[in-house]
Amino acid sequence: MPLVVHKYGGTSVGDAERIRNVARRIIAAKDAGDDVVVVVSAMGDTTDDLIKLAYQVTDTPSARELDVLLSTGELVASTLLAMALKGMGHEAISLSGAQAGIRTDSNHSKARIMAIDPARVKSELGAGRIVIVAGFQGIAQDSDVTTLGRGGSDTTAVALAVSLGARACERYTDVEGIYTADPRQVPEACKLKEISYDEMLELATYGSKVMHPRAVELGQIYGMPILVASSFNDNRGTLIHGGHMEIRNKVTAITADTDVAKITIVGVPDRPGIAAGIFGSLAKAGVSVDTIVQNASIQGITDLSFTVSKGDAGKALGVVEPLAQEIGARECVADTSLSKVSIIGTGMQNTPGYAATMFDTLFAGGINIQLITTSEIRITVIIAGEQAAEAVKALHKAFELEKE
Ligand code: ASP
Ligand code: MG
Repeated sequence: MPLVVHKYGGTSVGDAERIRNVARRIIAAKDAGDDVVVVVSAMGDTTDDLIKLAYQVTDTPSARELDVLLSTGELVASTLLAMALKGMGHEAISLSGAQAGIRTDSNHSKARIMAIDPARVKSELGAGRIVIVAGFQGIAQDSDVTTLGRGGSDTTAVALAVSLGARACERYTDVEGIYTADPRQVPEACKLKEISYDEMLELATYGSKVMHPRAVELGQIYGMPILVASSFNDNRGTLIHGGHMEIRNKVTAITADTDVAKITIVGVPDRPGIAAGIFGSLAKAGVSVDTIVQNASIQGITDLSFTVSKGDAGKALGVVEPLAQEIGARECVADTSLSKVSIIGTGMQNTPGYAATMFDTLFAGGINIQLITTSEIRITVIIAGEQAAEAVKALHKAFELEKE
């Protein structure tokens, strides 16, 4: 039998009636002729609530205990969904991540899946059952429960789909698909019928919170098509895949990330080893650095800028300030209210003019560009935080994305 993996987000299983709605959708898929494996997130805000609770008990909750605690959110949702299915007359069974054979490393709260042993899931499917797997969790070699990081159920679903040889992974939430821009910001934004893995990865990494980047990465590596659609209606969603794309606008989407802080070290002596020292120390402190820009040096002196998330800005300054003094730099400046706005599209590759249109549009809107970075299919500008929404709107219009 062909097999499909469905994944339902927290809102989609947010209460009893929604769980029953999800059960009906699963039954419809089964009736249409597929074996079905389902991955669920925790109901509603359960994960946030459990984290809050842990921090009410202590300022430093043990990572091991926290992972077990958080894993219960998905367990609750999976058992209730299995009960709902049984109540509707269908054979179903819920499995924890460990029972489903999801083996991870032992990095609590950010574990990586190392292997999946699909034996149990396969035997349950063989017995005619719908299998419901608790997302976002696995088991480490020492048999401790681990979690995969916030939003990790997407990754569980794609990994399971790959290991079971599913024909597709269908991921249902309260969002209908991937849009040319965030529809809450840009009402004219259009839902895309399809998007390539490359584009989706850039989108997920540079702002859109719709899909967990690691899930997209897995899909790409193993060629697993991922459908993103709503669990609340039957509207056509967006297919993330690597197949042949129809011809369309060359810019696919505009996205913004408003969690950006910039740190600039001014007057850095331009000699070998400085960057290595600075970024080595930041890495050791666990600060993940994003965009890095070093100016061309004038008379042996240069400026070095990099961006981090706002939450990491203080920590980054703490690392960099003493180093700057040591190497004789002039000063360190931080700006903690920035945004990254990106245009993304495979079609831009090897085609000139996109950068010019982007910069012209921002100029016309009186928006100053602080830093620019690019990949083959993305152009990103770093601008003042409060101008992000305006920039996205203007670019969406300039690239005629409302006509998708
Ligand atoms: N429940 C977890 C979270 O809220 C995992 C997930 O939903 O994918 O982050
Ligand atoms: Mg959630």
